[in-house]
Amino acid sequence: MYKLIDKLEKDHVLSKEEYKKLISGFDSDLSGYLFEKARNTRHRFYGKDVYIRGLIEFTNYCKNDCLYCGIRCGNKNAQRYRLTKDDILLCCKEGYELGFRTFVLQGGEDPYFTDERMTDIIRTIKSDYPDCALTLSLGEKEHESYKAFFDAGADRYLLRHETANPAHYSKLHPPELSWQRRVNCLYDLKAIGYQVGCGFMVGSPYQTADDLAQELIFLKELDPQMVGIGPFIAHHDTPFRNEKSGTMELTLFMLGLIRLTLPDVLLPSTTALGTIHPLGREKGILAGANVVMPNLSPVSVRKKYMLYDNKICTGDEAAECRYCLQTRMKSIGYNVVTSRGDHFQSSKRLRSSKQSVQSIATAEKLTD
Ligand code: SAM
Repeated sequence: MYKLIDKLEKDHVLSKEEYKKLISGFDSDLSGYLFEKARNTRHRFYGKDVYIRGLIEFTNYCKNDCLYCGIRCGNKNAQRYRLTKDDILLCCKEGYELGFRTFVLQGGEDPYFTDERMTDIIRTIKSDYPDCALTLSLGEKEHESYKAFFDAGADRYLLRHETANPAHYSKLHPPELSWQRRVNCLYDLKAIGYQVGCGFMVGSPYQTADDLAQELIFLKELDPQMVGIGPFIAHHDTPFRNEKSGTMELTLFMLGLIRLTLPDVLLPSTTALGTIHPLGREKGILAGANVVMPNLSPVSVRKKYMLYDNKICTGDEAAECRYCLQTRMKSIGYNVVTSRGDHFQSSKRLRSSKQSVQSIATAEKLTD
């Protein structure tokens, strides 16, 4: 097993059977071995920096009925809300002052937010905060919508594929949702030019070690810039109310494997990980993650964006969340930084395109 981790560290890929062997047979010693290598790999690209993303959960209306999710349309007990454009801009203002240089607009699939409304919000945020990156997480859209958002200035898009196994997908979702469509959206987003994030829940109902091994094969094929994973946690108003949650140990082990499989990927240590263990987010960073996503939504709506039971940080002001995470990261020897926190390759491209713009400008001046 240790040899397999050495091989993964060297080649950044294993066969599905090899991944499966690790996932079904790991223990705490093997995890420790993996995490050290995962940390070394992340240090090569990102040092001890931790990137922060200001999460704005701007609507909990959703037309979908995913069986695991607390804001599914079938949950009649959810109190629905939508932020106005002004509310969203206030969140950005506060976030900017707190040192955030990436904002993430996340919501249910809410038809109120038409392409016109979204592009207007995107344009305003990007013109008010030109030095910030804007990430969207709005679910499945048509190509034209993704393209319009990108043209309006959105930089990144998060769309968890939830599982790499189509048969498993159909056990987590109603029949009208299709795995193929979701995956097509990810390839579409990539082709448009977004920095793309996919992801899945660890320990979701019916998931097997074979499925988790398939996740790593899927990630290698898609080659996304970001991967968001967290444990599945039951929500009391969903059909999965009595299902067991995913474990912290397996989630951390998957984070370590992802880091060695996609060495420079942006990998968040998620709120769900912090929900199943008080030190979950710190442990996620120590397993190879390099991003945290504090909440910038107004406290008045936080409890309403309840995807799963006992979600943490629902009562804290944005500033408290920001400084709490900074202290937590410091306690394990890492530093929260004020930066857009682009993907390693994308930031190299951004730097070189800026340089070429500068050299074109210089050349134009010289020829004037
Ligand atoms: N509507 C957008 C989408 O579909 O991508 C973004 C919002 S969606 C609620 C964000 C993510 O929350 C999902 O992709 C899912 O992985 C996660 N999530 C939902 N319910 C969860 C649960 N019970 N436990 C853990 N994660 C959950």
